[in-house]
Amino acid sequence: MMVRSAALLVVLVLCADSQDYCYHEPDCDPYAWGDFFPSCHPLLGGHHSPINLDHHMVRNLSLGLLHLEGFDETQTGQWTLENDGHSVLLQVGSGMSVSGGGLPGVYHTVQVHFHWGDPSTNGSEHTVDGRRYPMEMHIVNMKSIHPNVSAAEEDPTGFAVLGFFIDVVYADNVHFSHISQKLSSVAYRGQMTGIKPFPLLSLLPKLNMSQYYRYSGSLTTPPCSQAVVWTLYEVPIYISWSQLAQFTSQIFSTEEDAAQVTPLQNNFRHLHTRFSRTVSASRDARLLRGTADPLTLLSMRLLHIVVLGQFYL
Ligand SMILES: [Zn+2]
Repeated sequence: MMVRSAALLVVLVLCADSQDYCYHEPDCDPYAWGDFFPSCHPLLGGHHSPINLDHHMVRNLSLGLLHLEGFDETQTGQWTLENDGHSVLLQVGSGMSVSGGGLPGVYHTVQVHFHWGDPSTNGSEHTVDGRRYPMEMHIVNMKSIHPNVSAAEEDPTGFAVLGFFIDVVYADNVHFSHISQKLSSVAYRGQMTGIKPFPLLSLLPKLNMSQYYRYSGSLTTPPCSQAVVWTLYEVPIYISWSQLAQFTSQIFSTEEDAAQVTPLQNNFRHLHTRFSRTVSASRDARLLRGTADPLTLLSMRLLHIVVLGQFYL
């Protein structure tokens, strides 16, 4: 019986390993991930990501600027850019870490990747007051005390992910070209190319890095481990329309020799409920006001009439 159970377990594990996740086929899209990766089931009270950031926030005055160690330096060695069929990942090697800003420890920077939509739809994972940005960049950092990813996945604060919204303007972002110029080399799944290290800080917004939101959540891809301290920065990164199009139109989720090539688009997980979680606003963040409901507007108007004797119509 035990042997049979063990054999069954091996089969199940192999199935889970061999089952790839996707974003758009009904049998493997984000709503089906839980069938193969049980921790992706958004159970009641779960700490899943992404979420909508709204006015239900609490100011936390102790949340100041994060310390981004090594982000302003050009690291030695070689970085790699890779298309894994789900995103484009920049593996950054060792030498950088994040700490401070209320993070419970030091986290080594592991990789950077992106989520995007399609030529006509925005594709950030988190939304702000219901607004979805064109793209979202994630800098994934793993707590330094953990020897490997599996150990970090077991720790509710095993990862610190820095999320940056990406918005679009007419001018190219010259720093972003470090990545966008290399995208044609990783157009198809499984392709990888070397990339010369550059100061990661050059990708980030120049100002207002002390304005961010913080909450406890999960990885947004399988196994969806509820092991992430999220930091979502308020100020977006700006890139050009043509740089955005390189992601939405020129990256494929299939291999180069596939019978039918499929563009990699809308690679974001659906929104999850906040439940009882607190979303904190950093000391300098702008508190979102949300959209006042009609009753609130009416009571404010009545207050004006009573207090000021004025009519606002
Ligand atoms: Zn991500």
